[in-house]
Amino acid sequence: MKAQPKASHFIDGKWHEDSAGEVIEVTYPGTGEVIARLHAATPAVVDAAIASAERAQKDWARMQPVERGRILRRAVDIIRDRGAELAHLETLDTGKPIQETEVADWPSGADALEYFAGLAPTLTGETIPLGGDFAYTIREPLGVCVGIGAWNYPSQIACWKAAPALSTGNAMVFKPSEITPLGALKLAEIFIEAGMPAGVFNVVQGRGAVGAALSTDPRVAKVSLTGSVPTGEKVYAAAAAGMKHVTMELGGKSPLIIFDDADLESAIGAAMLANFYSSGQICSNGTRVFVQKGIKERFLARLAERTGTILAGDPLDPATQFGPLITADQHVKVMSYIAKGKEEGARLICGGAAGNEGPLFVQPTVFADVTDSMTIAREEIFGPVMAVLDFETEEEAIARANDTQFGLAAGVFTADLARGHRVIGQLEAGTCWINAYNLTPVEMPFGAVKASGLGRENSKAAIEHYTQVKSVYVGMGPVDSPY
Ligand code: NAD
Repeated sequence: MKAQPKASHFIDGKWHEDSAGEVIEVTYPGTGEVIARLHAATPAVVDAAIASAERAQKDWARMQPVERGRILRRAVDIIRDRGAELAHLETLDTGKPIQETEVADWPSGADALEYFAGLAPTLTGETIPLGGDFAYTIREPLGVCVGIGAWNYPSQIACWKAAPALSTGNAMVFKPSEITPLGALKLAEIFIEAGMPAGVFNVVQGRGAVGAALSTDPRVAKVSLTGSVPTGEKVYAAAAAGMKHVTMELGGKSPLIIFDDADLESAIGAAMLANFYSSGQICSNGTRVFVQKGIKERFLARLAERTGTILAGDPLDPATQFGPLITADQHVKVMSYIAKGKEEGARLICGGAAGNEGPLFVQPTVFADVTDSMTIAREEIFGPVMAVLDFETEEEAIARANDTQFGLAAGVFTADLARGHRVIGQLEAGTCWINAYNLTPVEMPFGAVKASGLGRENSKAAIEHYTQVKSVYVGMGPVDSPY
């Protein structure tokens, strides 16, 4: 077994096993080979993880913030030192090309840990003068936070949740996706090596039922989920019953609007990144590409030409640019959307079939003449399928771009910067780009509006979602009472 961890769970600073839990087989999407066999958490494992987090959190919160930051910073150094080994594991877990996992996944996670390690010690409350009396505020951690991850960026998601949570004095129980359970266990091990007290960060494995058990436990103060909209609705409802805080990073069907004055090569490059990176399995992808009529055919011809040069193949080969989908189910789902696109009359520009590099490959696919009502323009596909829609006016593009339940991301390409800002200002999306796409530096808030979620990850904004403000009124004189 190529990637078998020492045990399924990591609780209270130690590997933890309970073979009574349902077996979870981890397969390498590149070949279908089983690389690890784990067990889902039993109720006893869930209980042990939350109890351990609850115990550890109080001392961790009392620690000087700069010392918490120093521990997180040591973890960053370990992650960067072991970059190649961690990227290799991420590729085995996800099937994403090693040329992606070496630069995107753990590196982005390390950036988040580094950023919050430095930010947390700078957080202070305020003093509010009240004319003699005064008040002050203290920013406090929430307590035990649960993180639940999706399978597309498993280690990055674990780091993006752990970094703001732990730096501000919370403890975390993290449940990775059952499809990609390996990276989070590495993170737990690295934290201990960096000097983090046992129990501050715990990992338990399992499917939705384990996530649900964590989300409803009364000892848990917050749930941060990265996943699909239907799961988000369930987790949000469960959290509401216990008045828990939530962050919801959910799915999308984001618009990318390309005006006819845009730099064509940049716009095409961005559209490709926004649909084919990670084989299209990215929440913020710009999967509805609105192209202004004047440049439509030139755009499509050059897009087809560039898409034809994408090198699909063995994810572990450093030359490979495009890997398989994550699972057979996902492959069936994406192929059925491609069939729907053809059936509903979209014009196939390139791709449109399974790839021959392995059972889970799908060719990078572009449909043109897509209309707003077609299924491929309405539903999240989560695969390498770009829908190109054409438009004539700015107003029309904005109205059509907003005509969706989703609101995660949006992009605009234009040489007219005034127009770029004007259009972005009217798009209903949480994370936007002008003349760029899908760049998510840790300094910038990342998150959604509408059905795509709420709360923000990264940046100073994430602090709001992992802390709460305590107000303290200080009376400086005798109490003025009518009684
Ligand atoms: P999913 O919703 O099927 O699962 C996400 C996680 O939730 C998994 O760990 C799963 O086990 C858990 N889960 C399932 N049911 C649950 C329940 N009832 N209670 C608690 N937990 C439960 O999503 P997925 O297929 O793993 O990931 C793909 C989806 O994630 C896509 O929709 C994608 O857009 C979204 N996503 C969003 C972001 C973002 O930041 N907005 C990032 C990556 C992926």
